[in-house]
Parts: sequence; structure tokens; C-alpha cells
Amino acid sequence: MPDLSVPELLDLDRRHVWHPYGPMPGRQEPLVVESASGVRLRLAGQSGELVDGMSSWWSAIHGYNHPVLNEAAHDQLARMSHVMFGGLTHEPAVRLAKRLVDISPEGLEHVFLADSGSVSVEVAVKMCLQYWRSLGRPGKQRLLTWRGGYHGDTWQPMSVCDPEGGMHELWSGVLPRQVFVEAPPAEYDEAYAERLRSAIGRHADELAAVIVEPVVQGAGGMRFHSPSYLRVLREACDAHDVLLVFDEIATGFGRTGALFAAEHATVTPDVMCVGKALTGGYMTMAATLCTTRVAEGISRGEVPVLAHGPTFMGNPLAAAVACASIDLLLGQDWQREVKRIEAGLREGLAPAADIEGVRDIRVLGAIGVVQLDHEVDMAAASRAAVREGVWLRPFRDLVYTMPPYVTGDADVARIARAVCAAAREG
Ligand SMILES: *Cc1c(COP(=O)(O)O)cnc(C)c1O
Repeated sequence: MPDLSVPELLDLDRRHVWHPYGPMPGRQEPLVVESASGVRLRLAGQSGELVDGMSSWWSAIHGYNHPVLNEAAHDQLARMSHVMFGGLTHEPAVRLAKRLVDISPEGLEHVFLADSGSVSVEVAVKMCLQYWRSLGRPGKQRLLTWRGGYHGDTWQPMSVCDPEGGMHELWSGVLPRQVFVEAPPAEYDEAYAERLRSAIGRHADELAAVIVEPVVQGAGGMRFHSPSYLRVLREACDAHDVLLVFDEIATGFGRTGALFAAEHATVTPDVMCVGKALTGGYMTMAATLCTTRVAEGISRGEVPVLAHGPTFMGNPLAAAVACASIDLLLGQDWQREVKRIEAGLREGLAPAADIEGVRDIRVLGAIGVVQLDHEVDMAAASRAAVREGVWLRPFRDLVYTMPPYVTGDADVARIARAVCAAAREG
């Protein structure tokens, strides 16, 4: 196929290609990216470059076109891009699993390599339900979570996303009905903690697990909460024989200032999902980790296997890049970089307090959020950011950023200016 002109490409895109949460045909014209390097996206034609304030949805923590990750991909490509994982194994997958066991909270010992975050959550839920089935308690098959969460777009994950998001109404009667507690307050509140405990106690006989995003709720509303709630959940789950699942798909690999958000509370969940930044944003891969108690429980059952096995499970190319990405992260003073970005965002977003319609400004690790008192005009807000030379993707009442950790101070300041401009004009 010859190169497409930008108008041809956009026309075909609009007619044939679904985009996330988009209509068909498309109504908003996407920007065409030609290449990306460091923290910059190069747009097609004469449209110049944008500083990326999104890390491609939390994933590109090292920026784009990174020589170390490129080399890992090239090396692995020359050996094999993929082989099936049933009956076969290979070094990239084994090395990655061992790395994840070594760096994740103490006690997580076994790794299921999945092909996307949503699938890793499906696997987590399947592990929990099957665990109780194997122990002769099949009635324990519901999940409890708090409102304001996001866990992915396939069926089980959707059932524990915030029910206000619209998807629940559309799918009521189709989605499994889970138990919801109100969203966690930012600060520790003993009365709320008590409501959490009592909800877990009340539903214990039917609960397989509690599933939450620790410390930061991402796509459900970019809310932060006190890590102390994680200890409350751990204790209540232990007291009532309920498993605890942490979805660290957004928070994993340093984003909140700890390698995993669970570390803010030194709590080990029974099951943990990681994804997004796992491959440094190079390709799709996620993982579900579990404790020996969970794995042995499943393996003692009538069906003593975990019946899940995606075609591209353990993909060597993705696993090799994931290993390189983790080594790259741990081989540098990443805490300092995240703290530096945190300081830059705090300073740069402070002026948003004077913008009319701004309700809240919050920063944690390399995450900066400006919340409005109204639904953002996404097109106007994005245009305002692009005028500042920055790529942002606001949603609902939120203009937010989570830049790559390699973003320099001047670019962090520019991103913050763009967030303010988007908040002003959105
Ligand atoms: C993005 C995300 C998911 C879903 O991951 P996909 O790779 O998009 O399927 C699940 N949970 C959380 C917390 C996420 O941020």
C-alpha cells in the first residue's frame, strides 16, 4: 500500500476504525502521529511535535523509542517473536515472572502472564472464585469494591467499575451484581473504615474477594485515598475469610512514588494485577500474581488447574521488553525522578486555583489532576493543550497528566501550563 496522505488516512480512519469509547463513524478528528521519541510525539505533515503528558495511558514511563528497550526488542525478535506457552516455556517469560516475584510485595509467588490489563483482572477474579469452589464453598462468588473504581472493559472488570459510569445502566441484568461501598474519602475516616469492615462482615458468606485500586483510583475519577484503608481491608478480609485483590495496573512501577502502591501501607494482597507500564508502553502485556495459599487452594480442587490460557500468553517479545523496562527502572534513582516531577507538578498546577470552575487540584507522585466543577469540553480542552505544545486527554470533569519519568523540568512546567490552559478553556 502506498503512503496515505493525511486526509486519506483520516477519511479511512473515520469510516473503518473504532477508537476507545468512540462512535462509528468517528465524529472527532484524531491527530495523526508519525513517530515518537523521548517525551515527544511527532505529528504527521507540518503539524510539529507535542510533549506527551499522558505516557500513553500510564504506560510509557521511559518515554518513546528508548535505545535500551529497542535493543531488547531487536534481540528477542532475532530469536523468536512468539511461541505458544502450552507445553513450552522460554527464558523471557521465566525471567519476567521471577523479576515480578522479587519486586512485588512479599508473599506473591506465582505469576500468570496475560495479554491485557482487563484479562489479568478476569484471571484474578477467576482465581478467587475457583479458590473458594476448590475449598467447597462455591457460594462465595461475589466481589466487593468501593465506588469510583475502574478495572477494565471486559465483563468481570466492568462489573466492579464505578456503577455511575454509564456502563452499569446499559448492562444491568447482564453484568454480575457486585457489592459496592461508597468511594473512599481522601483522608482517613474511622467511620468510613467501620462501614468497610461491616460491609465485608455482612456479605462474607457470598464474597469471594474484595477488589480495589490501591491509593489511586485512575480512570474512575483520578481520586486519591489514605493508604490506611488498605490495612483496614487486609484485616477485615482476614477476619472474614475473604480474599483481597489489588489492581495495580495503573499504579504499578513507581507512578505513586512507591514501586507498588500497596507498599504505602505495607500490605500484601492475595492477588495482584499489573499491566500498563509493565512493558514500558512498548506492547500489550499484563500479569496476575498470587500467593501460595491461593495457588495451592485452586490446585487442591475437583478441577485442579487454573483453566485460562490465552493464545499469546507469555509472549516472548513483550516479556523480553518488560524485563528490560524493569531493569531500566530499577537501575536508576527513579524515586528521585518521580519526586522531581511531583514537585514540578505541584508548583506548575498551583495557579489553577485561580481559574474559575476549578474545584480541586491534587498531585501524588508523577500524577497531577485538576478537577473542574463541570463536565470538560474535551475538544476545546485538548485544543488548548495542543496550543501549548502538549498532548492531554481530559475526561469527565478532569484535566490530568501522568508524564513519562524522563520528562525534564522545562517540559513538566510546559505540561502544567497546558493543564491550566485546558482547565481554563475546557
Ligand atoms: C487500564 C486499567 C485496566 C485495564 O487494562 P487494559 O490493558 O486497558 O485492559 C484495569 N485496571 C486499571 C486500574 C487500569 O488502569
